[in-house]
Amino acid sequence: MSALRNEAANGRRPLGIMAALPQELGSLIEVMRAESGVHTVTHGGRDYHVGTAYGAPCVVTLARIGKVAAAATVSALIHAFDVEAVVFTGVAGGVGHDVRIGAVVVADSLMQHDLDASPLFPRFEVPLLGIARFAADSALAAQLAAAAGRFIAEEGAALVQRFAIETPQLHRGLIISGDQFVASAAAVATLRAALPDALAVEMEGAAIAQVCHEYGVPCAIVRTVSDTADAHAPASFTTFLTELAGTYSNGILTRFLQARG
Ligand code: SAH
Repeated sequence: MSALRNEAANGRRPLGIMAALPQELGSLIEVMRAESGVHTVTHGGRDYHVGTAYGAPCVVTLARIGKVAAAATVSALIHAFDVEAVVFTGVAGGVGHDVRIGAVVVADSLMQHDLDASPLFPRFEVPLLGIARFAADSALAAQLAAAAGRFIAEEGAALVQRFAIETPQLHRGLIISGDQFVASAAAVATLRAALPDALAVEMEGAAIAQVCHEYGVPCAIVRTVSDTADAHAPASFTTFLTELAGTYSNGILTRFLQARG
């Protein structure tokens, strides 16, 4: 483990950057390959790509889909690579009333919408931890939101011309996670009734936030809205993932890493 740590850190602890699916990483690994070269370590069935992007030492990996996959991957980033902080980038379903396809949501807090050990513990609360809502690191989330805001200001108009989206908006607030792809108006209504301030639903963020909380590692999550979690979600998700997820991640991560590097 210590060899991995030294390689990753090169004197400075690296940032862990995660996504679920390759399209959500954009060209980050290619950027590292060109800048520093990439050393890839396979651990627990995942590839961890170690290098430098825009001057910032990074370990970049794909978690695959779901809370367990995300928790296992972020644990390895913490244990095997000693990351200083974790950033997750990807797509999500919009559930807030004014959260539209193409919007960007930066989490202030995260919850597991499918966690329910009631009546032993309050609904949504992580048993024996006493927490339902996990806070993102406020400084890291502010840096991500600033990067997303600059991306939208500089590239939003061109995206609206090329793709069938409205002018992208930036939202900050609650992101909810569960082990379901949400794809019906009825399911959205149920989520809104239970968690009225939820902006977006996805399948990894709250698991990452929980593990990071338990280890005292700062984390932040940025999601681009690929669908509105209704009956159109499967088609909308697939199109967005193919055509736009990488553009958003590149635009946001480049600005975020340049500001850090
Ligand atoms: N059919 C896809 C799986 C999609 S799962 C496949 O075979 O690859 C959806 C992924 O995008 C998850 O990683 C989740 O975090 C995010 N996501 C986007 N829209 C979502 C929605 N409506 N509900 C839940 N997760 C969503």
